[in-house]
Amino acid sequence: MASESLRGAGFNTTAVHAGQEPDPLTGAVIPPIYQTSTFKQDGINVLRAGHEYSRGSNPTRNGFEVQLAALEHGDAGFAFASGLAAEDALLRALLRPGDHIVLGGDGYGGTNRLISQLLGPWGVSHTAVDITSSASIRAAVRPGETALLWLETPSNPLLQIADIAAWAAAAHDAGALLVVDNTFASPYLQRPLDLGADLVVHSTTKYIGGHSDVLGGAVVTSARSFRGRGLSEAIGYQQFAGGAVAGPQDCYLAARGLKTLGLRMERHCSNAQAIAEWLLGQPGIESVLYPGLPEHPGHALAARQMSGFGGIVSLRFTGGDAAARAFAESTRLFALSVSLGGVESLVCYCSEMTHASVRGTALAVPTDLVRLSVGVEDLPDLRADLNIGLAAARAAALNTAASAVAAAGARSWLSSV
Ligand SMILES: *Cc1c(COP(=O)(O)O)cnc(C)c1O
Repeated sequence: MASESLRGAGFNTTAVHAGQEPDPLTGAVIPPIYQTSTFKQDGINVLRAGHEYSRGSNPTRNGFEVQLAALEHGDAGFAFASGLAAEDALLRALLRPGDHIVLGGDGYGGTNRLISQLLGPWGVSHTAVDITSSASIRAAVRPGETALLWLETPSNPLLQIADIAAWAAAAHDAGALLVVDNTFASPYLQRPLDLGADLVVHSTTKYIGGHSDVLGGAVVTSARSFRGRGLSEAIGYQQFAGGAVAGPQDCYLAARGLKTLGLRMERHCSNAQAIAEWLLGQPGIESVLYPGLPEHPGHALAARQMSGFGGIVSLRFTGGDAAARAFAESTRLFALSVSLGGVESLVCYCSEMTHASVRGTALAVPTDLVRLSVGVEDLPDLRADLNIGLAAARAAALNTAASAVAAAGARSWLSSV
């Protein structure tokens, strides 16, 4: 169905149909995967459907880009080989040496690494800020120098909630742009462009692909301009000239996943909410970080800004890092892995896995924390599996306590001789 006839359609209708028209040649309901690098020309530079070479454009990729842009209420979408490739393209398309970035402090470790390790040597500086404090955001902005504000909400892995509209106002007051990494919420739960953000980035590897079988990234632009150029034109040119595009097979998988995003997110949210509430009462749990809990400091803001609280739950253990590690290494359905957003549940010990690159810095993640990516399995099975982890965590905490007592005993015995 052409995108114009989908104007006003609901989220799931748009997800299934935008950019996913049946093949005009054969009537195939699912458009074919255009596994081709180049397109035969009818004469020199006479292109049959506007396609010349798949780095510039490919029908399978374009279909996915239209589908995602429609769901994010954007002007245009651009698919890349990974989330970080999308971020890299965005940064290099818009920034120049001497620019400054205000970066949300609690975020994906790889984004921090990209900005500090790869862009730092090219003359781009950054300041990390507390994403929940508008005073600290405004204090970090340097008018004339700050070109971008970069925000992840809910944040990773602390699940803090930031006010997108307030961040957008802080950016625009300084003549800068706001980029929101919408990977955790997905467009089903949150549409940053409607709240004033200028660009959205995704790791489509996560909820959009949704089945842990494809790596990808995307940028969705608003219709705004920056430094005299439309954002869509700037990102599109970078995609073509930089070349970190997503291949047709990967775009097909991402587009297929995106069609069921709404259905999956409903289940991720209801499972995560039930698990967060249940974990709160378990012995050995020091805190449960989930924006759907009324006691979460960002609960009211999340309820306003999002249409659900997402599928990620983080927990901290009274037994410290020994308990957290034992938990992460004992569950069976919750597979010990980096990544998130697939139909299968995963558990991650962030301080040494996803966030190892910020260990020892101000952005380091607590060592008593594990992050759950709650899948779509049946709740009683997930709870039974978490119970195995909780038992292991309590045993590890007891062991640590026992060896601490033994060590203290040994010390007092030594000091008495
Ligand atoms: C995974 C992730 C990325 C990076 O995406 P890749 O596809 O792994 O390159 C960026 N942001 C967030 C929030 C992520 O979870």
